[in-house]
Amino acid sequence: MRIDVVGGGLAGCEAAYQLLKRGVEVVMYEMRGVSGTPCHKTDNLAELVCSNSLKSEAEDTASGQLKAELDLLDCMSLRCARESRVPAGGALAVDRELFSGKVEKCLSSFENFRLERKEITSFDFENPVVIASGPLTSDAFVKAIADKVGADYLGFYDAVAPIVDAESIDYEKAFFASRYGKGDPTDYLNCPLTKEEYDSFVTELVNAKTALLHDFDKREIFEACMPVEVMAKRGADTLRYGPMRPVGIKNPDGTRPYAVVQLRKENAQGTMFNLVGFQTNLTFGEQKRVLSMIPALKNAEFLRYGVMHRNTFINAPELLTAGFLLKADKKIAFAGQMTGVEGYVESIASGLAAALNLYAAEKDEQEIIFPPTTICGQLQRHVSTPSENYQPMNANFGLLPPTGEKIRDKKLRKVAYFKRGEQDMKRFLENRNI
Ligand SMILES: Cc1cc2nc3c(=O)[nH]c(=O)nc-3n(C[C@H](O)[C@H](O)[C@H](O)COP(=O)(O)OP(=O)(O)OC[C@H]3O[C@@H](n4cnc5c(N)ncnc54)[C@H](O)[C@@H]3O)c2cc1C
Repeated sequence: MRIDVVGGGLAGCEAAYQLLKRGVEVVMYEMRGVSGTPCHKTDNLAELVCSNSLKSEAEDTASGQLKAELDLLDCMSLRCARESRVPAGGALAVDRELFSGKVEKCLSSFENFRLERKEITSFDFENPVVIASGPLTSDAFVKAIADKVGADYLGFYDAVAPIVDAESIDYEKAFFASRYGKGDPTDYLNCPLTKEEYDSFVTELVNAKTALLHDFDKREIFEACMPVEVMAKRGADTLRYGPMRPVGIKNPDGTRPYAVVQLRKENAQGTMFNLVGFQTNLTFGEQKRVLSMIPALKNAEFLRYGVMHRNTFINAPELLTAGFLLKADKKIAFAGQMTGVEGYVESIASGLAAALNLYAAEKDEQEIIFPPTTICGQLQRHVSTPSENYQPMNANFGLLPPTGEKIRDKKLRKVAYFKRGEQDMKRFLENRNI
């Protein structure tokens, strides 16, 4: 069996390894070496484009849980990362050159592996293929993908509003109601602010520190979607006529709030809420500091911070199965950031799952969907669950169903999620030979 892989990044390399070890002949097409991307600096496989951290390994973190699950699935990338580790407290940070070298060495050690330095520009694949060309997919190939899946199903930037843990909201300072009483009143959780609170909030927001953007990011994003801090700079009341407008909303005592931040459920379980219209480019630290000035969010736990950057991603819920296969042609899998997972390890996880599923499909076997209590399983559900405004998602505990036990201690509650996910993944693998 031969399967091709487009892109020698994080997802592509993990996908290739999973196929190679199963005896599949793999040809990987990587364009760096003949042409570059605006961000990659080397021709190395699995180059980390920005931070050298693959985040925490701790048992009270979702990224730690994801790593534990991936270890059970024999994840090559994590093995190489640990062999290239540099000290970084609880985080798995790596020497990026060493990491890439180890990945390349591992793949090259397979006789059934071939690396071709070539830019893919069309969709004429003779073999089953994993498309893992990433957020900076070359323009010609983006066009080919658009022709294949439909231009309407491609996004070109992330404009993600922050997401908070439902359990960390102060419900004494928030209330459910829909604007003008239209629709289901539980759709929106309103966080009111008095004039004083609003004025201080806006003052801090306009002076807060923003993350540095690459030139190509600046061009693409701001035309399409204005960050809340940029809006706030236009005038003291701009937000009150924008995402914080109070019209059509009454406090529980019948008065009208001065300003309101609306939260909307991010998932069906209602364990996560996003701040409606609050796409932002503030640094993560500043998001926590400034958004915690909203009274109901004083102690909010941010499961995902807002980000705005260029990204090429497909509307996966319309196009993909939970196994990352194209619904219309199951000889094609998509993997990595372009499926709407966000982050290095999440991209690795999707590469792994896409490869297993494409391999299973080629052998006429059932799709592999990991348990809902695992982060791997929830990323699969994220890419395949219909959503009005599909945006990339990282690993976080808000994705998981509650454990059912009442655990008061926050840290222990998180460890319980971790242990349950790890256990369920083990059981899943005992029952399904993959
Ligand atoms: C600027 C930027 C910074 C980021 N920083 C972080 C961070 O610090 N931490 C984090 O967790 N996540 C970060 N991410 C998000 C994401 O985790 C990374 O982009 C990650 O590398 C995605 O993995 P991938 O395999 O999907 O894509 P990539 O790792 O980018 O791999 C895709 C590969 O495909 C190749 N390619 C593209 N087009 C073609 C073509 N037509 N033919 C052949 N090859 C092609 C590219 O050269 C590349 O090697 C960042 C993303 C961006 C854009």
